[in-house]
Amino acid sequence: MGGNKPVNSKPQYPDTDSSTVTDGDEPHAAFISTPALWRSGFGGKHPLKPERLARTVALLEAYGAFDGANVSRISPSPATDEELQLFHTPDYIDAVRILSAGGMPATPARKFGLGVGDNPIFRGMNEISRLKVGGGLAGARRLLAGTCSVAFNFSGGLHHARPAQASGFCIFNDVAVAIHWLLTQGQRVAYVDIDAHHGDGVQAAFDDTSRVLTISLHQDGRTLFPGTGFVDEIGHGQGEGYSVNVPLPPGTDDETYLLAFRELVPPLVRRFAPDVLVTQLGVDTHYLDPLTQMGLTTTGHIALFEELSALSPGKWLTCGGGGYNLDVVPRSWTLAFGVMSGQEFPDALPKEYRDRYGGQWLRDREGPVLDERSRSRIRGQAEETVAEVRERMGL
Ligand SMILES: [Zn+2]
Repeated sequence: MGGNKPVNSKPQYPDTDSSTVTDGDEPHAAFISTPALWRSGFGGKHPLKPERLARTVALLEAYGAFDGANVSRISPSPATDEELQLFHTPDYIDAVRILSAGGMPATPARKFGLGVGDNPIFRGMNEISRLKVGGGLAGARRLLAGTCSVAFNFSGGLHHARPAQASGFCIFNDVAVAIHWLLTQGQRVAYVDIDAHHGDGVQAAFDDTSRVLTISLHQDGRTLFPGTGFVDEIGHGQGEGYSVNVPLPPGTDDETYLLAFRELVPPLVRRFAPDVLVTQLGVDTHYLDPLTQMGLTTTGHIALFEELSALSPGKWLTCGGGGYNLDVVPRSWTLAFGVMSGQEFPDALPKEYRDRYGGQWLRDREGPVLDERSRSRIRGQAEETVAEVRERMGL
């Protein structure tokens, strides 16, 4: 089963495609990827395995997902210092560069959250982390140029990183950099984060502005990293009322999650009327994810991807995020790209993928086992949270 070998045998796709949005119903979807993204990572025992990216691309290729006329593949360029400085501090950027090459920065690595706990230092982390940020920027530029209507930076979504701090497996915050860049272009941005963990780094980045609406749905911070994301975190100053948090109980299943999502996200995003929708599609809400206790299946994920697609104002920058079950992540993100590009893939996994990675079906045929009493308790708690958020947001 698997390995970290690049599976992309097709030619490189230069960061210079000049395709234009096609007429018709299907959106022009750009998929942002290069094998350099999964050449190395935090190391063998770390839960964030680069193989999740390789497998996702392998599954999409096996389905022929990139063959359509309305689909393009973009190979990102690494973000420059100037681009990183849209969000990160120069001393942090320098420290990542020095540590990545095996050197010692003037300030100890641990002061930047590197080399401790969740964020071990590895050779090449500077280059890989810059590519992930460059992917978000490549997508954002194409959306504004009108060469695509949705861009999937599937290796991004590193929503915990702070200006001078690595956190929760995130070194550079591709989302915050891309949104800052969109702001320099005069855009209003709605950000929706469906990762199981609170999108704390992105929320903090835009906490005091009314030009970015951030909405995060996640497992209750009393039970999961990073321990924040409560309903009373609503933003400060000009940004008051532009941060929205929806903490959900462990065990939340498709039905309860979708109820909370549909009650809150569409009305909030429509009222805000963004120019660009940015989303973080972490799939660690899946019931088989080893790091969280949420109870979603691919059925819920598909419904969420469709809901988000319907909210796009015609410019949708979307990125990956968490997801630590290697059998789940490729399937969920393949289904996501299917929604983005208007493709419906057969349920039987392609033979070449199955032979290499195992599995049988694209969509889950089983789900979590939850007794009726727990289900109704979880639903009751979620309904209370929804009511409180609606009141705070004046819905
Ligand atoms: Zn997560």
